[in-house]
Amino acid sequence: MSDYRYLIVGGGLTGDAACKGIRSIDADGSIGLIGDEPDPPYARPPLSKGLWLGKDESSIWRGTEEQGVDLLLGREAVALDLDARTVTDDTGATHGYEKLLLATGGRPREIPGAPDGVVYYRTVADYRTVREAAKEGTPVVVIGGGFIGSELAASLAANGCAVTMVFPEDAIGARIYPSDLALFLNEYYRGRGVDVRPGEMVASIERDGDGFRVRGKNGAALDAEIVVAGLGIVPRDELATGAGLPADNGIPVNVELIASDLQTQLQLMAAYLTRSSKKRAHVTLKLALSRDGMIGRLGSACPLLSCVTAGSFQFVIWPVKIFATVWPDSRRLRTRVRPTSMWYGNAVPPAAIGR
Ligand SMILES: Cc1cc2nc3c(=O)[nH]c(=O)nc-3n(C[C@H](O)[C@H](O)[C@H](O)COP(=O)(O)OP(=O)(O)OC[C@H]3O[C@@H](n4cnc5c(N)ncnc54)[C@H](O)[C@@H]3O)c2cc1C
Repeated sequence: MSDYRYLIVGGGLTGDAACKGIRSIDADGSIGLIGDEPDPPYARPPLSKGLWLGKDESSIWRGTEEQGVDLLLGREAVALDLDARTVTDDTGATHGYEKLLLATGGRPREIPGAPDGVVYYRTVADYRTVREAAKEGTPVVVIGGGFIGSELAASLAANGCAVTMVFPEDAIGARIYPSDLALFLNEYYRGRGVDVRPGEMVASIERDGDGFRVRGKNGAALDAEIVVAGLGIVPRDELATGAGLPADNGIPVNVELIASDLQTQLQLMAAYLTRSSKKRAHVTLKLALSRDGMIGRLGSACPLLSCVTAGSFQFVIWPVKIFATVWPDSRRLRTRVRPTSMWYGNAVPPAAIGR
């Protein structure tokens, strides 16, 4: 059994930020990070934008290994024993901890009954799969009109693919933007060669030779070589619930991101998953900064900072980035998008168990 002063489950942006936060306060404490992806922590945002615009894949890596961290990759943490203070992974190895951070994020929502090969876009492996298949003129169906769907549609179209977007809302980003802006986006995308199909629910996806046939509830039948979906995520809370921690669309935690403190629990996770104001993010952050957390003074800021930056503050510039980077000549649109603000629910804040 390996023992760590700090054990982190989850090798995403939060896991990486936590390693760096810990190291800024504790230079020597042993850190283990269990991640079920084969790759070390990397930035996800470029997967739907920058990498399609010429950025090199090498630019996404976070350099977590430079923090003196044992990266235990390609392993899923399958059991947590709060009394024994151990985590067991799917190789059967058990890891002890003094402090544990659950930074397990979320998994993409899938379409029930859809065949293998539909890409639920989230990882660098998904990027590589789609990139490999996406050639000039390749027919692609993008399912979903939110952030991931709209970014991918733009990126794929900018790379010469024949993109059709299907989503049930009236307009691209309808759940995020004011309706006039969202409707404007439909036309904007169409002007860029994307076949935008609002109000269309996917009824079924079948294999058709090497490709797919996507059928809509309104009767559309779309043939595609690539089907890629951006349908949001669901929290990966099974490790926590398996250990007896409560879950409520994530793991409820207190302002210090500590799970199981029922007196002060503020259900930050749920708060992060709903729309809210920027002001609230600042207040939450201030609260976290002012208390002791996972690793002592300022410690709680490291996981929270990462989820705030990954999941909240960036959203303000994100819509601007889509157009500024994918379609750099879109000045008019940039101006229209800039005032939009909302909470982006894709970041599932972690819960620290600091007892
Ligand atoms: C394509 C794309 C583009 C994005 N662009 C932006 C953007 O421009 N701006 C923005 O603000 N946000 C963006 N986001 C969202 C942002 O990337 C997420 O908010 C952020 O990645 C959340 O990080 P996380 O570490 O908390 O969770 P995750 O990224 O979900 O990472 C959790 C990690 O833990 C692993 N894991 C889970 N359970 C276990 C287990 N039991 N054992 C081992 N490992 C486990 C998962 O496999 C995963 O690697 C984007 C997301 C995607 C997918």
